[in-house]
Amino acid sequence: MKCERCMADTSVERYDVDGFTGWLCEECVDVWDRVQTDDP
Ligand SMILES: [Zn+2]
Repeated sequence: MKCERCMADTSVERYDVDGFTGWLCEECVDVWDRVQTDDP
């Protein structure tokens, strides 16, 4: 399945946070978590 963020065709997992719902690969989940944390 394709990651909705980087479009890599790899294994993805459902990701549900405020304002975003989609399928992300592990790497993008990691990045997304960091982005959320950086947000004030
Ligand atoms: Zn990705």
